[in-house]
Amino acid sequence: MDVKVIGVLGAGTMGHGIAQVAAQAGCQVVMRDIEDRFVENGLKAIDKFLAKSVEKGKMTEEQKKGVLSKIKGTTRMEDLKDVDLVIEAVFEDLELKKGLFKQLDELTRPGVLLTTNTSSMSVTEIAVATKRPEKVAGMHFFNPAPIMKLVEVIRGYHTDDATTQTVMELASKMGKEPVEVKRDTPGFIVNRLMVPHLVEAIRMFEEGVASMEDIDKAVKLGLNYPMGPFELMDLTGIDIALHVNEYLYRELPKEGKWSAPTLLKSTVRAGRLGRKTKGGWYKY
Ligand code: NAD
Repeated sequence: MDVKVIGVLGAGTMGHGIAQVAAQAGCQVVMRDIEDRFVENGLKAIDKFLAKSVEKGKMTEEQKKGVLSKIKGTTRMEDLKDVDLVIEAVFEDLELKKGLFKQLDELTRPGVLLTTNTSSMSVTEIAVATKRPEKVAGMHFFNPAPIMKLVEVIRGYHTDDATTQTVMELASKMGKEPVEVKRDTPGFIVNRLMVPHLVEAIRMFEEGVASMEDIDKAVKLGLNYPMGPFELMDLTGIDIALHVNEYLYRELPKEGKWSAPTLLKSTVRAGRLGRKTKGGWYKY
């Protein structure tokens, strides 16, 4: 199946990054958010990223204009009526996603593929909100989408082979390296591996084993990771880490390892959210 027009739901961190990558791959993109200001912010962020690429000599001003001209920003759901495939990147809220997939199912042509960029939640549960669960898959990009190479392509319980193949091919066309996640497990591959590592780092700090800086240093030099766990959480947000942690705890067999550390919960509750965490962890 040839995907020419892509609908992106959400113009936030992931949505605008995915819209940019899709346009750079030559697709027409309709990027929808709920308010004009969110759409505008998304478009501005794409413009800024591309302007830097021009500055660095990675693309010409002409190419930048070409990419931007392929992206139509909108707040109207109806504008997604004629797309060939949708990538949903709204808040990590299962009920919100299910409601949107039901709407998309009614709005788009039968056979149009509907994908979700959820970080951890059940693709199957989202898919059964539609009458075409075999045409629904996970398409999990990483942050920042224009830079990170990996896309996890997740098969829900009903996802058929043709859908998986089209999504894998689309990810490759977008310059990404897809991996197929054959079973719809919470957190898929990366987050199921990464969250226990983050949680263990917080616990070690909590127990006084080492400072955050030394834990980061040990992971970078000992495991050759580009970033330590605390640096990574400062970039992606500790509220997201806690959200995914608690979802995995609810969904996966409990052996203790998935329970959220008290320090992580207290810091998020104290209002030290996301990228503002630096140095602001809850003090006992
Ligand atoms: P974000 O908060 O930056 O953006 C979400 C956007 O969705 C907001 O602009 C919001 O206005 C919009 N939105 C809400 N309801 C909508 C609707 N009904 N229609 C259209 N837009 C709507 O969130 P994000 O970080 O971009 O995350 C989006 C999704 O991607 C989540 O499922 C998240 O788990 C996943 N994800 C996030 C990251 C990350 O590091 N941020 C990485 C991979 C996957």
